Formats: sequence, C-alpha cells, structure tokens
Amino acid sequence: SKISKEDILKIAQEEKIGYVKLQFTDILGALKNVEIPVEQLEEALDGEIMFDGSSIEGFVRVEESDMYLKPDYNTWSIFPWSEENCRVARLICDVHNFNNEPFEGDPRSNLKRIVKEMEDMGYDAFNLGPEPEFYLFKLDKDNNPTTIVNDTSGYFDVSITDTSERCRREIAKTLKKMDFEVEMFHHEAGPSQHEISFKYSDAVTSSDNIQTFKLVAKTVARQYGLHVTFMPKPLYDEAGSGMHYNVSLFKDGENVFYDKDDEYGLSEEMKYFMAGLLDHARGYTAICNPLVNSYKRLSAGFEAPRYIAWSGSNRTPLLRIPSTRGAGTRAEVRSLDPSANPYLATAVILKAGLSGIQNQKDLTTPVDENIFEMTQKERQAEDVEDLPTTLYTALKALKADEVIQEALGKHICDHFIKNKTYEWKMYSAQITSWEKEQYLSQY
Ligand code: ADP
Ligand code: MG
Ligand code: MG
Ligand code: MG
Ligand code: MG
Repeated sequence: SKISKEDILKIAQEEKIGYVKLQFTDILGALKNVEIPVEQLEEALDGEIMFDGSSIEGFVRVEESDMYLKPDYNTWSIFPWSEENCRVARLICDVHNFNNEPFEGDPRSNLKRIVKEMEDMGYDAFNLGPEPEFYLFKLDKDNNPTTIVNDTSGYFDVSITDTSERCRREIAKTLKKMDFEVEMFHHEAGPSQHEISFKYSDAVTSSDNIQTFKLVAKTVARQYGLHVTFMPKPLYDEAGSGMHYNVSLFKDGENVFYDKDDEYGLSEEMKYFMAGLLDHARGYTAICNPLVNSYKRLSAGFEAPRYIAWSGSNRTPLLRIPSTRGAGTRAEVRSLDPSANPYLATAVILKAGLSGIQNQKDLTTPVDENIFEMTQKERQAEDVEDLPTTLYTALKALKADEVIQEALGKHICDHFIKNKTYEWKMYSAQITSWEKEQYLSQY
C-alpha cells in the first residue's frame, strides 16, 4: 500500500477529520457504508470493525452474520463537500467473514480472486478506462427526480449559460480534488445527457473509481437542484446511457495488446482476448446489463450495440478497436451500461478475455460495414450473432455459461440469478400504460 496506517492517522488529525465512512458494495451494485467517529479510526484501520451482514442484499444468513470490514488504505479520500471543521473521509473495504477470510459474497474480494488468476498467468495489470454516461434531470418541488431535461443541447454542443455545463464542470472539479485524472467531459447525444471520462487504472481501482464517480456526480448535482441518473434508458425516443469499458493487459509496464510487427499493430494475445470477449458475450450480458431497462437501450439503436462482432472503425458492433497504438492499444466493449455492478462486470469481462487466451481462441474477421444496415442474411453469412434482447434471455445465457459463472463464484452467481429472475417476473406481470393505450378501447 502506498500509504501507511500512521500516514492516515496523521492526515486525519491535520485535516480535522471528524467522521470516516467505511464503504463496500453489495451484489446488486449498491454502495453501502457505516460511519465511525475519528476516535475509532485506528481500530477500523486494523480491520476490527464488525457489522451485521444479514441485512445486506445477498450477504449471509443470520447465524453467521458477523462480518469484518478490511479497509484498503490506498482508497483513503476526503469528501471535498464536507464541513470544513469536521471533515468526512472514506475508506473502501473488503468484506471478510467471521473466520477472517475474504467473504465469497463480496464483489470486491471476488474481483481480486480473478485478478489473482490473471497474475498467475504472468500479467501484472488489467487496465480499465470506463466512460460512464448519465442524464441530468430536474427535481420536482419535493426534491424527487423527474424526467424533465435540464438542457436541450446535443453531442459536443457548446452552451455558455447552461447550468448543466456548470454542474458537469463542478463534478469534474470535485473528482480532481479526490485525485481522479479526469480526461474529458462533454455533452452526449441526448438532451441533458453527458459523459465524463477519467484515466484508466487497474481492475480494482477502476471499479472503485466508478462507484466514487457515481456518488460524486449524484452529490454535486443536488447542489444544482438536479438529479443525475445512471438508469440505462430513461427516455423513450432518445439515446440510452452506456458505460463503455476500454481494456488492455500489461506485463512489466508494457501494453501486451500492442505488437509493432503486426499488420494492424495488434498482438496475438489481444486477438485471443477479444475472441474470448465475443465467445462469452451472451453469458456476461446479464451482469453488464442487469436491469429490465438495460435492454430498452440495447434494442433501441442509437450507438448501443446489438450484435456480437468486432470492428476497427465503426461503432455499431460489441467491440471496437480505437485507432491509438502503443501504450493506448485497447479494445472497447460497448455493451455495458452504468447500472452494472462494476466489480462484477470487471470480473466477468476479465475472465472472458483470459479464457480466450487460455484456449487460444481464433478471432473472427472484423465486420467493417455498419451492422445495423446489413440484412439478416448478410449477418448470418458473416456469422454475426445477436446479444440477448431481454433480461430473461440474458439470464438463460448466464445459466449456460460455466466460465462466467466461475467468474462470479457460486454465492454471487446464485444470488444474482435468483434476484434478477424475481425482477423479471415482477416486470412481466405489470400492465403497462402502453398496453392500455393500445388495447383497452380496441379489444
Ligand atoms: P471514446 O473515443 O470512445 O469516446 P474516451 O476518450 O471517452 O473514448 O475514453 C477513453 C478511455 O480509454 C479513457 O478512460 C482512457 O483513460 C482509456 N484508455 C486509454 N488507454 C488505455 C489502455 N491502454 N487500457 C485501457 N484503457 C485505456
Ligand atoms: Mg450494529
Ligand atoms: Mg467517450
Ligand atoms: Mg459516450
Ligand atoms: Mg467510447
């Protein structure tokens, strides 16, 4: 760890920290925390803070519910919006069970297990650069979110008077204070839809960053009377929000996806990794697109992918290879949306790619036409399969993919499937306003 226990205790005193939040993430991706007064910080740093895991979604039964929070010192960070003389800091924790072993239902510990498998294969980092998109909506008079947009600009638009733009910049500023390297932010295609992308980092740090990003965006937006939503498809006739994953593997500080001698500058390992990503795409969709609503984005067109293919240039297939070479050589997985639990999504994407390397899987030829405009016959000729179109089919595909199940471990996988099957059943039983409009008078 880059920072020691003594360092943290010292900073806590100097910076007048009053309270510390110990954070972790449940199976469905919700950020959870317990807050301790600074007097308890040393005990917390020693990993001695216990909590009752039985009430956390997908954790444990009551008879074995004592769990320990093991803070990762490197995640120490002070909330810039906290009160000056009584500041609030946070530590992201792994969850250990009563035997003091990593708890198999903890998504962050589970991701570390997959990272270890990667290290055993000789790689030292899985680098991940996420591009989360979101909508900024107005609040109503009771401060509840609406779907009323706050601006009507479009992709990359400039507007100098806009509160959306000021709010977005304030989010970026706050992230910077929390040591994020924000790379760029801009207006997205939908009205009031925005993107902020920050520099890639290793698998666990990037997943932590996604959780922090969401918290910061939501917190700052409230100061502007706005609501940030990461719901994948909040508006029927506008672009949905995705969260592209830019990924690469490093060994001895070098990007192993780059090969200067290859015609396209892409290494064998990268091609195998991509073949693995294509091979398991149906299996990991439920994890990367976990809501009923996720599939409204995936089937609506705009720039969301619908087909399992790759391309060097166009933005319609599942995988794209951005044109950068050298250290920036990477694959972009375009199906993910920001409602995904980042620890689980990262684990399944990494595992899928590694299995491609282990099995030396052949990569199919790239599809360089716009797949949306190909006829179904042409797609079949090119061997292009489609992604699941509902949460139901995605869950079926997960149940048929042992590699992805293994990436989650039995505890998380069983819990996820059970919970999401229930979500699908609840949704399917609804009588929607669309149905009433279509059918009530006509039948
Ligand atoms: P786009 O052109 O798709 O909009 P962005 O510029 O928004 O892409 O985001 C690119 C992301 O890719 C950033 O998070 C960046 O840090 C990340 N990235 C750059 N090089 C690598 C790499 N070698 N491995 C993983 N991610 C990378
Ligand atoms: Mg208690
Ligand atoms: Mg981008
Ligand atoms: Mg974008
Ligand atoms: Mg992108």
